[in-house]
Amino acid sequence: MRLTAPASTDFTYRNGELFAEGLSVSKIADRVGTPFYLYSTSAIRNTIREFKKHLSPLDVLICFAVKSCSNLSILKLMKAEGLGADIVSGGELYRALKAGIPGKNIVFSGVGKSEREIREAMKAGVHAFNLESMEELDLLEACASDFSFKRRVRLSLRYNPDVDPKTHPYISTGLKEHKFGLDREEVIALAERIHSPALSKYFELGGISIHIGSQLIDLSPLEEAFQKGRALSQDLERRLKIKLKTIDLGGGLGVPYLPGDSEPAIAEYCSLIKKYFSNGPRVILEPGRVMVANAGILVTEVLFRKSRGRKDFLIVDAGMSELMRPTLYESHHEVIALNEKHANTLLTTVTDVVGPLCESGDILAKKRRLSREIKRGDRLAFLTCGAYGFSMANHYNSRPLCAEVLVKGSKSEIIRRRETYADLVRLEKRKSSQ
Ligand SMILES: *Cc1c(COP(=O)(O)O)cnc(C)c1O
Repeated sequence: MRLTAPASTDFTYRNGELFAEGLSVSKIADRVGTPFYLYSTSAIRNTIREFKKHLSPLDVLICFAVKSCSNLSILKLMKAEGLGADIVSGGELYRALKAGIPGKNIVFSGVGKSEREIREAMKAGVHAFNLESMEELDLLEACASDFSFKRRVRLSLRYNPDVDPKTHPYISTGLKEHKFGLDREEVIALAERIHSPALSKYFELGGISIHIGSQLIDLSPLEEAFQKGRALSQDLERRLKIKLKTIDLGGGLGVPYLPGDSEPAIAEYCSLIKKYFSNGPRVILEPGRVMVANAGILVTEVLFRKSRGRKDFLIVDAGMSELMRPTLYESHHEVIALNEKHANTLLTTVTDVVGPLCESGDILAKKRRLSREIKRGDRLAFLTCGAYGFSMANHYNSRPLCAEVLVKGSKSEIIRRRETYADLVRLEKRKSSQ
């Protein structure tokens, strides 16, 4: 049976229960306990391969946005497929390097890079810094002047094209009112400064970068940003009489979270890129969500059922500390039972699926029609949780971080063990000083 939700085909019902590739999800839950994140290797690989197929023959560096899913094993999988990394912190740089991704395939984005992070990234020889402000260049210059180089540091300028990405306000970044990026005049002024004799001994101008937001379903804002980006890139080449090395198109491609949503538009997105950037600087992409969202689910167990008038609550052992997106963005994740009999029943009732945290906002799924027969001990899966799921998890209510498991064919591996209570206090002072 096809799932009632837009999950990857790597998660399907078989013999009456949910499978991830060749494995029963329940059996994994018996072994590792709940809650846990479960990722499918083949789902990730298939998405990467689709990107590559549709981008060919363009020369593209795909830098996976580490913040969407930062587990080392996932990053190693990306590396094995030839991907680089898009990082936004020193911690992500550390992870990317640990996963074996070479510095030359890492781009450093972010509106607030610290001096320490800048030095670390220079030392790692990152492919480029995506510069976001005038003052950041001052700091980069100060760091570069006491640094011995094998090659010059490449800088790209993050252009804010003032395009409305028509996504949730918290995940849109490409409007004038947002903190991200530089306007056209600032890009030109910075490019001229980088190109000046004083700075060009340290720096090489890569090109411009754009990233207008996340979960973009409508491609027209992206097309507008691409047009503006290409025009500015060509303008810079004319003004400075140089050929730019790169153009970084950011990430942002959306995925379907609701049953009726259309499939991710990877083919259309890639042809848009080819339409505008086939004859120009080398293209860099920074996709996050689209690479991993559908490749991950969050598995949880029902603790209690509670009836309140016309509505029931299922209280489960995962909450906003495991999956923050519904609370933060009011985002929708489909929820299904691991046992198929609960998926087929006509005996449904309007149900809120909520977590155990002491917060009214700890709601994972609102007003869903779920089987009345789902009871304590039954297990549920939240779909499309691979991106911004575990990477946003936190310890609120002193909840140890849950486990992460990666499936590959008929094998599964714990790629992050569940934290213990001892882990919770490991870094805290315990002995009283007399
Ligand atoms: C978050 C982010 C991305 C990834 O965005 P997705 O929507 O997950 O593809 C790419 N680039 C930058 C600069 C980002 O901040």
